[in-house]
Amino acid sequence: MGFLQKYQKDFEEYDCLEQDFIDDESIWAQLKKKENPSRAEVRSVLDKAEKKVRLEPEEMAILIQNQDPETINEMYALANRLKREIYGDRIVFFAPLYISNKCANNCKYCGFRHENHQIERRTLTLDEITEEVQIMIDEGQKRTVLVYGESPETSVDFICASVRQVYNTKRGKGEIRRANINCAPLSRAELQQLKEVGIGTFQVFQETYHHETYREMHPAGTIKGHYRWRLYAQDRALDVGLDDVAIGALFGLYDWRFELMGLLYHAIHLEEKYNGVGPHTISFPRIEPAIGTPFASKPKYVVSDEDFKKIVAILRLAVPYAGLILTAREKPEVRRAVVPLGVSQIDAGSRIGVGGYRESSGNMLPDKEQFQLGDVRTLDDVIRETCELGNIPSFCTACYRAGRTGEHFMEVAKSSFVHNFCMPNALLTLKEYLLDYASTETKAVGEKTIVSSVQGLADPKIKQFVQEALARLEEGERDIRV
Ligand code: SAM
Ligand code: SF4
Repeated sequence: MGFLQKYQKDFEEYDCLEQDFIDDESIWAQLKKKENPSRAEVRSVLDKAEKKVRLEPEEMAILIQNQDPETINEMYALANRLKREIYGDRIVFFAPLYISNKCANNCKYCGFRHENHQIERRTLTLDEITEEVQIMIDEGQKRTVLVYGESPETSVDFICASVRQVYNTKRGKGEIRRANINCAPLSRAELQQLKEVGIGTFQVFQETYHHETYREMHPAGTIKGHYRWRLYAQDRALDVGLDDVAIGALFGLYDWRFELMGLLYHAIHLEEKYNGVGPHTISFPRIEPAIGTPFASKPKYVVSDEDFKKIVAILRLAVPYAGLILTAREKPEVRRAVVPLGVSQIDAGSRIGVGGYRESSGNMLPDKEQFQLGDVRTLDDVIRETCELGNIPSFCTACYRAGRTGEHFMEVAKSSFVHNFCMPNALLTLKEYLLDYASTETKAVGEKTIVSSVQGLADPKIKQFVQEALARLEEGERDIRV
């Protein structure tokens, strides 16, 4: 059987469905119905959002269609407040590791697409993975997302081997403690293998929820051309007990208002089917230019910076329990503007060329990259700025290692108890970073963040635990967590 026929049998499960959970017409009808909502309507949605409950599509439509600057500002203020109440001032840090840019698909917007001959193709060997990971560890990374094209070279066996390789790489006092995966949708049997190897989040972006646009972007005859195989990728993961799943849309392919509704319908579908377990995180990348990829330089539905802010704030209010990931695709000034609206995870020090950590040392590798990065600052620079802006950088990986995933994580995230786990762990992992990797300047700024945050811990037991653990870290112990 040829590679492109790999999932033909599996597709049947979805081909026979009368419909999927994205109803394009109904989404547009809801958006039309809520055109120009009154201030009272907007404020009543904000009142509901304040209770930290997931919003309904018709409520999201009101926020999307609101054009009134006064209530838009109220929405931003609430998004900022909810983020602080649910997640604290923490920002979780990670960096991607690109394993392979070989791909049999032909997504119009991606530099890795099969037809692009301007890119040098490569899959890292296991030894090369070790070398890349060593550099990441030496820079202070603890969390990664492994990124793969879809090709015979990146079979699930290879993906599992690469995950093991990442976890087995140790360096000084450091290691990667959580490897998330961003790869093509997989079958249940394949996902079972990923579960066994101990991946963190399983991430698949639908790219666009709009059926017709999806068809235009992903040619028929490619595996990715099958909309529903992708739409139900997270279902299959949850079916086999991989219960930290992530969703996302690539903004610029279709109208952002529709895509936001698509993301919400996806979250609702998962919650309803899997006992309240919605997406662990949501990503909302904007298309970036990519070598040999004219479409990416001129996407039809460019999202302005102003609309991008709305996207983040609306997601924060509509799906309060989900982590929101903002990547280094965005320029530093955009990141500064958008993080306060509800972002909980960012990457920094990222290289997105295959082999990029060894070969680019801060510069880019355009002939091996998927797209161009907007923020090429070092991890140390971004950590320092994060502290200066009053946030707490975190490299925490405790929840998933303690089994607080899926339903358990949802309970924790939904009930704000995150503070009891996340704040202490953020401070302890920041301390590790400062002790082992930070520049003198960052260390000074970061220590101030730790001192003031410890002072602010309300629970005396937690405060005492953190103070003692910080002292143990100073003495050389590592990986202390709640
Ligand atoms: N090949 C797998 C897939 O398509 O799901 C996973 C890896 S793919 C490289 C990861 C994500 O990169 C895609 O889901 C897409 O959203 C994003 N992406 C592709 N081209 C992009 C571009 N030009 N700018 C920004 N993001 C892009
Ligand atoms: Fe391949 Fe993923 Fe790029 Fe599409 S987005 S061409 S599937 S790497």
